[in-house]
Amino acid sequence: MPRILVLDCKQEISSFNPVPSEYENFHISKGDTLFSHRGLNTELGGAFDVFDQRSNVVIVPTIAARAGSAGLLSANGWRRLSSEILDAVRDGIDGIDAIYASLHGAMGADGELDPEGYLLAAIREMVGPGIPIVISLDLHGILTDRMVRNVNGLTIYHTYPHVDFADTGARAARLLLRLMEDGVRPVLARVIVPALVRGDELITATGCYGDLIRECQRIERDGTALAAGIMIGNPFTDVPELCTQVIVETDGDAAVAEAEAVRLANEFWAQRFRMQGKLIPLDRAIAQARTMKGPLVFTDAADATSSGATGDSNAIIAALSDANYPGSVLAQIVDPQAAAAAHRAGVGATISVTLGGAMDPRRYQPMAVTARVRLLSDGNSRLETMKTELEAGPTAVLTFDNFTVVVFSTSISLFDRAMYYSNGCNPVDFGLIVVKSPHTEFHMYDAWVEKNFNVDARGATSADIPSLGHTVCMRPIYPLDRDIEFKPEAVIYSIAPGR
Ligand SMILES: [Zn+2]
Repeated sequence: MPRILVLDCKQEISSFNPVPSEYENFHISKGDTLFSHRGLNTELGGAFDVFDQRSNVVIVPTIAARAGSAGLLSANGWRRLSSEILDAVRDGIDGIDAIYASLHGAMGADGELDPEGYLLAAIREMVGPGIPIVISLDLHGILTDRMVRNVNGLTIYHTYPHVDFADTGARAARLLLRLMEDGVRPVLARVIVPALVRGDELITATGCYGDLIRECQRIERDGTALAAGIMIGNPFTDVPELCTQVIVETDGDAAVAEAEAVRLANEFWAQRFRMQGKLIPLDRAIAQARTMKGPLVFTDAADATSSGATGDSNAIIAALSDANYPGSVLAQIVDPQAAAAAHRAGVGATISVTLGGAMDPRRYQPMAVTARVRLLSDGNSRLETMKTELEAGPTAVLTFDNFTVVVFSTSISLFDRAMYYSNGCNPVDFGLIVVKSPHTEFHMYDAWVEKNFNVDARGATSADIPSLGHTVCMRPIYPLDRDIEFKPEAVIYSIAPGR
């Protein structure tokens, strides 16, 4: 009866968010409660589905630690989190035959800029070289040399906006079973591409990045590769190995792995100019919006909570208000003080508060409003895609002038409509909707709005990558540096179990 230990640890950080994240940002579940992922579109859900089809596999669930994207994890937070994870793994480790770890790849902690690598090295130390370890990663993750050296296989998301969570977990689970049962001897080629990218060309259904990802899928599906993907990194996670990288893993064939990885890296590099954010100045977007029928979306990718921004930017609503934009506006903001004031006052009350600008004062000014409290909630909801829980804390819907603003106590992912719906706001009822996510699934907004403006506002996750101020990542790297000579070179890792 093969016993497979399972763990999950995910957070994505923005080094440019001034508010550190803490242990308390993590939602931690242990043991059998991990089985609540069965049937969900999550990596664990997909992996469990594969394992459950084998009557002889015993799953050993240990710990799942998930946090919304935020600022750098504090040193104390990381110390507590990492020891809790490693303790849980240690408790489950007796008699196991393999490990599946669901990771993100864009964590960062004060004093440890490669948290996933730290965890994998520690787990490898516990189990020795003979136990196969397979991980799954977000394509926005940063795969480090230390991570590769401590695993035997990995799978990477193939969609953006991400919808293939369960599929990526299922691919990892199947790869792990092959390592255990078929005696495959994986070799992995890693080609670092000195580029950071952003923008619409990364949408895999329509963009040029998607064309390359479909090549990765083809070589995975036709048996050329055990796994393949292109990790673009999270450009906001300023860590030493931040980069784009092509990963191709084959069964024993280093030459094929290298050739495919180099080919894909060359094709990616040639298109780096296309894969940059195309932003419209805020005042120009507002001027155009005035003349349009709508509905319209103002995409505020610079304050994308799912990429690690604070969510407390009022840049767009303040500019719309200053410009006396006449249409009905729906927006969201993280402001615990305003939410608390609304909860104290009650539904129907009128309150004078400031909205936003408290957490990232270097970028935003508090916006004073006198607003009516239209609705109060506990801030609980579920993501549309993954059906996993969102906990925004005490939440309020405030209205003033032509504005309706949903105010949260804590930052949560805003890459779908869940937090609007669960607070009684339907985006279709408004003329202009502010979305704090670089992209959403097509049907959510783009399918029915007249225009989705990628607005150039300031923020910790701006698509204007040179505006952010990287100090740690490898250089030179495009677009922080220009005139870079690039000749792709693969580093080959022999990562068979027991090597
Ligand atoms: Zn991602």
